[in-house]
Amino acid sequence: MQFTTEAFYQKMGITSDVYAFSEQILADLKPRFEKIDRVAEYNQLKVIRAMQECQVSEACLLGTTGYGYNDLGRDTLEEVYAKVFHTEDALVRPQITCGTHALALALMSNLRPGDELLSPVGKPYDTLEEVIGIRPSKGSLAEYGVTYKQVDLLTDGKFDYENIQKAIGPSTKLVTIQRSKGYQTRPTFSVEQIGELIRFIKQIKPDVICMVDNCYGEFVETIEPTDVGADMAVGSLIKNPGGGLAPIGGYIVGKKECVENAAYRLTSPGLGKEVGASLGILKDFYQGLFLAPTVTASALKGAIFAANIFERLGFAVVPGGQESRHDIIQAITFGSPEGVIAFCRGIQAAAPVDSHVVPEPWAMPGYDADVIMAAGAFVSGSSIELSADGPIKPPFAVYFQGGLTWPHAKFGIIKALQYVVNAGITEINC
Ligand SMILES: *Cc1c(COP(=O)(O)O)cnc(C)c1O
Repeated sequence: MQFTTEAFYQKMGITSDVYAFSEQILADLKPRFEKIDRVAEYNQLKVIRAMQECQVSEACLLGTTGYGYNDLGRDTLEEVYAKVFHTEDALVRPQITCGTHALALALMSNLRPGDELLSPVGKPYDTLEEVIGIRPSKGSLAEYGVTYKQVDLLTDGKFDYENIQKAIGPSTKLVTIQRSKGYQTRPTFSVEQIGELIRFIKQIKPDVICMVDNCYGEFVETIEPTDVGADMAVGSLIKNPGGGLAPIGGYIVGKKECVENAAYRLTSPGLGKEVGASLGILKDFYQGLFLAPTVTASALKGAIFAANIFERLGFAVVPGGQESRHDIIQAITFGSPEGVIAFCRGIQAAAPVDSHVVPEPWAMPGYDADVIMAAGAFVSGSSIELSADGPIKPPFAVYFQGGLTWPHAKFGIIKALQYVVNAGITEINC
């Protein structure tokens, strides 16, 4: 070693008081981190066993072109996903362009005109509003005659069982449950809570399809929503299950019929899962899934570290520093535009790519305020990589997630703290 790690941090712009404060916070987090490592260990075994049972071979890592008939790697990967999530079938494709597309596909393929969709957990993720037609949009479910009902959560974040029961009617075909809070302030649900909700719904109407938007939740716990009764779970490969390596893609796992419906919609009636060339992407899908448990653990440690640092400094954080975790998103409320901007600039300055770029708040389509975004990612827009963004409006909160490695998540958060300190928004006394 040419110099100590602390001296290295100093060379990277971290002052000794910020470093010492961060290390002090970290010392108390050891037991939590050990628990996270145990979950990662369990999930790592789960992934390896699935790959072994499916006899993943070198040939699976190669891809096909054209129609993609007999794509061994693609078909085997889908078997692996089905084993990891304990489902009958899976659709895991680069032709699914993102999480929203995967969710839209699952909904549109399993609902028919006259059916009703129910969200018993309040407003879904922003982009789904247009899919459903809550905000009028071309090609929405509403345009195809699929109606929508929503039951909001109670003020304490719990399920409103009474009104959920009332909302389930003869046309209720599919229930969508978003696991992660996304960018709202409600709590994220544990898998166990989701299981309770599904049991309640199935007891009222056994044949209703229960779908879980699993974005940001994969591998945070040792069980997944499909282990507690979900008929489908859906997510993005540029979040947790892609392990940072998948450059595109989405997945749908679940009951054979649900997945088949999705496959016929993704490609074409009559073709289904049999077409869809994987091109050269499979190695990254396999290797990304292999890395996903430990990558998710790194992101989780980062979220907890950030929560504890900024909570100690007096800022409001959701979830709280000691709260249990069911996704990888952390919200920190700075109460001023300067705080949001400084934090995001610090995250950017710690990135392996584009660290020299200084993010600025800007008007973005679909937002009603300027937004500042920090991302120095290998995969564009990847939010399993260390990234942050914040709308420049009260309460001036920043949403932060990701970190492919724990040391990078740690450095990014310390760097963000340094920027916040340098901007005079907080002081370190330790
Ligand atoms: C990210 C996310 C989505 C949408 O995914 P995109 O890949 O951004 O389209 C949907 N739901 C939740 C809860 C998410 O976190």
